[in-house]
Amino acid sequence: MLNPKYEMVIGLETHAELSTESKIFCACKNEFGSEVNTNCCPVCMGMPGSLPQLNKMAVEYAIMMGHALNCEINLVSKMDRKNYFYPDLPKSYQVSQVEQPICGKGHIDLYVNGETKRIGINQLHIEEDTAKLIHEDDATLIDFNRAMVPLIEIVSAPDFRSLAEVEAYLDNIKAILEYLDISDAKMQEGSIRCDVNVSINEVGATEFGTRIEVKNVSTFSGALRAIEYEVARHIEILERGEEVQSETRRWDDMKGETIPMRGKEANDYLVFTDPDFLPIVLEKSYVDELKTRIPTLPNERVIKYVTEYSIPESEAAVLSHSKSRSDFFEECVTIGNATPKSLANWVLGDISKIINDGKFTLSDISPQSIVEMVRNIESGKISNTAGKTVLDELFTTDKSVEQIIADKGLAQLNDTSALEQIVADVLAANPKTIEDYKSGKTNVLGFLVGQCMKASRGTGNPQILNDMIKGILDN
Ligand code: ADP
Ligand code: MG
Ligand code: ZN
Repeated sequence: MLNPKYEMVIGLETHAELSTESKIFCACKNEFGSEVNTNCCPVCMGMPGSLPQLNKMAVEYAIMMGHALNCEINLVSKMDRKNYFYPDLPKSYQVSQVEQPICGKGHIDLYVNGETKRIGINQLHIEEDTAKLIHEDDATLIDFNRAMVPLIEIVSAPDFRSLAEVEAYLDNIKAILEYLDISDAKMQEGSIRCDVNVSINEVGATEFGTRIEVKNVSTFSGALRAIEYEVARHIEILERGEEVQSETRRWDDMKGETIPMRGKEANDYLVFTDPDFLPIVLEKSYVDELKTRIPTLPNERVIKYVTEYSIPESEAAVLSHSKSRSDFFEECVTIGNATPKSLANWVLGDISKIINDGKFTLSDISPQSIVEMVRNIESGKISNTAGKTVLDELFTTDKSVEQIIADKGLAQLNDTSALEQIVADVLAANPKTIEDYKSGKTNVLGFLVGQCMKASRGTGNPQILNDMIKGILDN
């Protein structure tokens, strides 16, 4: 916090586009990146007399996200009209769920800076996206491809007290959407956007300060910067002895500042039930069945990795945010006999590097063979360097770890007699380095050990080599 006298209070309204085949109220294709105005019809263009029909998959995806966030699922919910005028909304109302949303209260547990933090969810509902305005030099054009793309809006409780908590929340919401495979969750395509509510109060105060809302922030970094900007602005106002005005503001990402849009009293949407829809009535058995489809989620995995496996928080976050990588890691841990921490290092390090190069995927290696390789390293049979050679071979051949170690002669030489010749050759080839060592630059020892490792093709035991070289040079 910029000024320790104050505390920030943040609440987020996060919108995510759902990756259904068709739009929420019509049969048009729900697809990002199509030619403008090719995925539209009288319904999503808001023509008078057209009638909407609710997409069942949008409802299903919302329930799944509700389960993921431990929400109560309401067996009866309804659609409302939020009335306002804007060119991207030809009906002059947005169909949303205000009064009786599909999902009620819930929560998400996050691991932030060494502690578990629970963020409450006030509600989660479905709604339609608006058309997209394209601003040109002397005109504004409208692309209706985005109109009626299904959205979920997740409204958090005002439970955030730091930027780190906001960041962990947004990262995890994105990862959960990907785990459930219900949204592309791409910020750059506008699939996730949020409204940021900010207030500050003096530490220890019994009431929250006046809240402002920053609308339509379209990047995670923008959300964090908008909060920082607002907190600083509020502190300045209060320190001047003035009061923060309740209002809605807009984030300008280029300028890095928020701009007033309207006073809060102008926020009256005259909400009423949309007569074009019947209530959404769900069977409890259907809702319960959807719950069985929810895997262990990334935020839960982070907590487990940190507390049970002693994996550092940032690594645990990276590991858990990719479901395939995290599943692979957990399979390895289940096989056992190798420490989870070194398994995590391999999955995040060399294995990810090979996969990121694009030629291979995780299905090209088996968890069994990775565990086997790590076991061999941990028992001292092969060096870490030799492990990398084994890994390359595991991706490109069908050989077992044992076979690779034997074929490539990778078994670590722990026997000093087998290493004596290598050490002698390396010392003979580096008289200058030896002089350096004797004149006090003892850090050249690492270089000499490295040369011996190289000469032994990674099979020398570095600790033994270190002791042998030191033994010769110090006498
Ligand atoms: P409204 O209906 O006026 O939009 P809500 O009570 O639904 O208000 O809250 C909207 C968002 O504002 C929620 O995400 C909530 O957590 C957040 N919020 C409420 N009070 C505060 C506050 N004092 N400071 C920051 N955020 C707040
Ligand atoms: Mg609101
Ligand atoms: Zn349509």
